[in-house]
Amino acid sequence: MRIGLPRALVYYYYYPLWKCLFEELGAEVVISDITSKSLIQKGIKVTVPEICLPIKIFNGHVINLLSKEIDYIFIPRFVSIEADKWFCPKFIGLPELVSYTIEEAGQKMLTVDINGKREDTCEWKNYRPLCNVLNVTEKQLKRALKTAARHWKLFRDYCMSGLSMEEAEQACIGQDKKPQISNENPAEITLGVLGYVYNIYDSFVSMDIIKKLEEMDVKVITFDMMNQKDITNRFGKKSKRLYWTFSDKIYGTAVSLLEQGEIDGLIHVTAFGCGPDSVTGKLMELESENYQKPFMTLRVDEHTGESHLQTRVEAFVDMIKRKKYADQRSESA
Ligand code: SF4
Repeated sequence: MRIGLPRALVYYYYYPLWKCLFEELGAEVVISDITSKSLIQKGIKVTVPEICLPIKIFNGHVINLLSKEIDYIFIPRFVSIEADKWFCPKFIGLPELVSYTIEEAGQKMLTVDINGKREDTCEWKNYRPLCNVLNVTEKQLKRALKTAARHWKLFRDYCMSGLSMEEAEQACIGQDKKPQISNENPAEITLGVLGYVYNIYDSFVSMDIIKKLEEMDVKVITFDMMNQKDITNRFGKKSKRLYWTFSDKIYGTAVSLLEQGEIDGLIHVTAFGCGPDSVTGKLMELESENYQKPFMTLRVDEHTGESHLQTRVEAFVDMIKRKKYADQRSESA
């Protein structure tokens, strides 16, 4: 059986888990192509215009999968993965949103409700509907979930040791030795680059911002490199907690990085049409002001040009480097 995974939304966070789970259950995993202009255009064509860019991109990936001889497309409904925190309404209504938009996808949809208290989503009740579809027993499903949870933990450990998600994913493939991160040549400045995984790690959407920054000798810290417990502990009583799971992680990371004082500035990468980010972005901007750190918002939509983004990022980095050297000179004078 061939199960299609759209390379969009929380695919970037849970791909190692789902790949492992489906393979343990005897299915073959097929992933949609990397995001391209034509793929996005296909998504835009079928989706209502008011909705955020990442959902239009998700629909583009679903359409892409339909041409790949798959039996099912896996589209989970994310409701909650921790106490008192919820997913954005577009995640909660995602299966309906897709099936009313793309009829053929509705017929091939394999969905489960992720509604529990584990970040790895591996409570077995979440995935129970897979038993009938994949013709496996509850015992087999539980065993596969255990293996997938272990695999995902390894992936997250790599992320928290400072690897980007792409590097962590590579490190997980057939490797049990932890990769070493070199600190021999420290970067000139460090920036927190905060945004949802589907904005940061989709290289078409973010126009490879992490790579661009690294080429400018910038060390990048993203929210997925942080330990959730550290984020929660550092939140401090004065800071608000946010209602939406990933917005809360991003805002918590911003507060935590600003408190530690190890970053030189923050970049918020957000997509056009995102409701939760209108709150999250403003809160991060206010926190940055409190700590007197530069803050920049990069809002991407289907029309954003690469040269525009490059110019803004270069100007921001230059400004921070100049200020840093000026401060160092006046300290040593
Ligand atoms: S959090 Fe924002 S970008 Fe993500 S699905 Fe919801 S509205 Fe869209």
